[in-house]
Amino acid sequence: MAKKVYSFGNGAAEGSAEMKNLLGGKGANLAEMSSIGVPVPAGFTITTDECLEYYNNGKKLSKSLKKDVIKALGKVEKIMGSKFGDVKNPLLVSVRSGARVSMPGMMDTVLNLGLNDKTVQGLIAKTGNERFAWDSYRRFIQMYGDVVMGVGADSHGHDPFEVELEKIKTKKKYSSDLELTAEDLQKLVKQFKAVIKKRTGGSFPEKPEDQLWGAIGAVFGSWNNERAILYRRLNDIGDEWGTAVNIQSMVFGNMGERCATGVAFTRDPATGENHFYGEYLINAQGEDVVAGIRTPQRITVKGSKTWAKENGVSEKDRKSKFPSLEEYMPSVYDQLVDVYNKLENHYKDMQDIEFTVQDEKLWMLQTRTGKRTAAAAVKIAVDMVESGLIDKKTALLRIDPNSLDSLLHPAFDPKAKKKVIAKGLPASPGAATGMVVFNADRAYEMNEKGKKVILVRIETSPEDLKGMNAAQGILTQRGGMTSHAAVVARGMGKCCISGCGSVDINYKKKTMKVGDLLIKEGDFISLDGSSGEVMKGEVATVDARLSGSFATIMKWADQYRTMKVRTNTDTPGDAKVARGFGAEGIGLCRTEHMFFEGDRIRAMREMILADSLDERKKALKKLLPMQRKDFMGIMKAMEGYGVTIRLLDPPLHEFLPHDEKSQKIMAEEMNISLKQIKAKVESLLEFNPMLGHRGCRLGITYPEITEMQAQAIFEAACALKKKKVNVKPEIMVPLVGSLREFQLQKEIIVEVAERVMKAKKVKVDYQVGTMIEVPRAAIRSHDIASEAEFFSFGTNDLTQMTFGFSRDDAGSFLPEYVEKKVLENDPFRVLDQTGVGSLIEMAVEQGRNARKKLKVGICGEHGGEPRSVEFCHRSGLDYVSCSPFRVPIARLAAAQAALRQD
Ligand code: ADP
Ligand code: MG
Ligand code: MG
Repeated sequence: MAKKVYSFGNGAAEGSAEMKNLLGGKGANLAEMSSIGVPVPAGFTITTDECLEYYNNGKKLSKSLKKDVIKALGKVEKIMGSKFGDVKNPLLVSVRSGARVSMPGMMDTVLNLGLNDKTVQGLIAKTGNERFAWDSYRRFIQMYGDVVMGVGADSHGHDPFEVELEKIKTKKKYSSDLELTAEDLQKLVKQFKAVIKKRTGGSFPEKPEDQLWGAIGAVFGSWNNERAILYRRLNDIGDEWGTAVNIQSMVFGNMGERCATGVAFTRDPATGENHFYGEYLINAQGEDVVAGIRTPQRITVKGSKTWAKENGVSEKDRKSKFPSLEEYMPSVYDQLVDVYNKLENHYKDMQDIEFTVQDEKLWMLQTRTGKRTAAAAVKIAVDMVESGLIDKKTALLRIDPNSLDSLLHPAFDPKAKKKVIAKGLPASPGAATGMVVFNADRAYEMNEKGKKVILVRIETSPEDLKGMNAAQGILTQRGGMTSHAAVVARGMGKCCISGCGSVDINYKKKTMKVGDLLIKEGDFISLDGSSGEVMKGEVATVDARLSGSFATIMKWADQYRTMKVRTNTDTPGDAKVARGFGAEGIGLCRTEHMFFEGDRIRAMREMILADSLDERKKALKKLLPMQRKDFMGIMKAMEGYGVTIRLLDPPLHEFLPHDEKSQKIMAEEMNISLKQIKAKVESLLEFNPMLGHRGCRLGITYPEITEMQAQAIFEAACALKKKKVNVKPEIMVPLVGSLREFQLQKEIIVEVAERVMKAKKVKVDYQVGTMIEVPRAAIRSHDIASEAEFFSFGTNDLTQMTFGFSRDDAGSFLPEYVEKKVLENDPFRVLDQTGVGSLIEMAVEQGRNARKKLKVGICGEHGGEPRSVEFCHRSGLDYVSCSPFRVPIARLAAAQAALRQD
């Protein structure tokens, strides 16, 4: 039969840290600490299997379990030299829950179990401390009543035990619990028992064994309380895991002035600095420290002095009223330093610990891996490698790539007050504060005047780019994680919240409503792009800092990764930022973004309005020098690396104004009739533009557009080459679905390339390849690779077309799809490995069979998402490409993928 109970204590243990599944996190670590000689009060753990057994057994403890518990209790009695239920020398225990992972929704701990009207006398005799004994007893009844017997706060929020406590204090005019006398506490015990009787009809169990069975049953029962079930749903914890129960002899931090209890981190969890960081309370029990009943004191002198400074406490007051543990009980402090060094060396990670001091002897009650900020995680990992505690691989695998995001953007001051008014999708991280404006031009104007603005739109379109660029942050009412606003904002490294359905925007009145709150143009709001929270007013921000450790981690990541990391960007400025973050080339330069600025949009519109080839060519001629200049800038900024330039992709109607006012302005500017413009807009209208006349379909019907773009690229490349700049243009044809489509475009590109190079008398290394974003292209990838020199997976469109989900509209049902587990994740955020991923794997294999040296990368939004990056590594991609601010994340994710594979 499987072992039900594992003992620990006295420098030994039957369990170990590896046994978290069976003993729970708390139990496994208590066992481990005991084995390595850290002082732990003796006790034992009932396995998680027994929790499931309890449910199978109709919520009853089996006879055999009770027998094993009594036996294990015997061992504890031997070690402690006292006896459970003995009236002269009683052993008291705590009963603590403990699942595999810590679960705040679970049962609270019961302390001082084993006390009754008789054993309390034994405790008095044993300790000579009457007040302490009665205080422990009344605490026990209170906890047991609440946790095991369900006597909690009533519907008005009044805790019946606290009500009794307050009555006595008021009557006796006490201001603190510490003034309660032994007599008062003895009375309270009686009153508490009466409360239980009144509320439950039953009596408080006097027999220690009954108390124990009740508490164990309550811990098992708490596995299925509402809070715990909800917590499991939210955190992906299996219902079948069960909880363990830890039963441990009590040590007392509340037995006098040489006793204490505390919690600590072995390093600073906010900054990662290597100093002991913790708090303690003298003469206190259990969780008094975190409960906020009294002001906790710092453990180290240094920490104590910092605390005093922050709280305006004089050095004299600090020393006399709030001394550090280091000053107050130096010998205990020394024990603690020994223990925490031992724990860190053993676990090789920062620990979060709980301890109690009884008569100047230290006892450890818990240790676990400490939670930390991203900045702390990076610093601790680097420091631990440098001190030889862990190796680089361990350090790299320990950091969550996504968490690096918070190190790359400004953040809200954690001390600032905030009033959240709405919540949307956390589309692009960062913290932004500014005045609300509802259109792009206004955003631009106000920014020019030095005002900080937040651009609020129902949705954004390419026309809003200028305003988005000028804004601190962007808020949209509609749209998902890959909406225009979200993709562009991430590219810009700008904070964005999309799909914030609870705001109601009125462009005409220049207002937005959130519930009853009306926000007008010029009012301040703040956006937290990492949480999706919209806040009222200005919230203070602090700038991101790239610490030395962060750079070190990145350097190590580069040593292990095999995939290259490129960036998606359209401007030389962003290209430089991305290079600073370690980008090795551009994976996607979207040429259409270049058509919106200044007078370019006018030339573009002329081209669209043109009725004949000649007129169109005339307009294109105006665009040529502008494009050439852009390409020179961007290739110069990425000198030495490949730059993938995608030919014009969006449907042409995106470049025309759609409201009458702008159409009128355009008519005036271009000296044509409004009617003509309206007719053109109408003729370009498509029911489903994303599946319409766009991508290479434009280049096939208007070859002159492809020709002009190719000419601009090669003239730029030749000019740079002449100046000894090492350029590597890669021309990418979008939305290809068949070989012939690609061939037609490639012919034009190659023809132009040869012509320009001959005329300029320079040779440029270039490649012509395609985006794989139409499922048919993946299926026919062997054909296409016979002509294409590279593939770049455009997974935004590929996902859209594989699922048949419109990426601009799927926001209305995707959250429910995820909730109902139709999909595990939003496939526009995390690559759908089994569906879209299969197409990728197939295209890589077929493509490389047709062309051995085919270069393969990804340029969709997934190129910066760690799980998707890992998939790309496994699929043999040469590179991933992502927005500049995700480059470090992709570098780390690529390193982790490589490390996990070997
Ligand atoms: P949680 O999981 O909520 O942290 P714990 O089981 O760790 O709950 O117990 C809460 C507190 O009770 C701990 O901080 C510890 O100080 C105290 N405690 C638990 N067991 C004992 C014990 N045997 N002796 C003294 N204090 C204890
Ligand atoms: Mg704890
Ligand atoms: Mg596309």
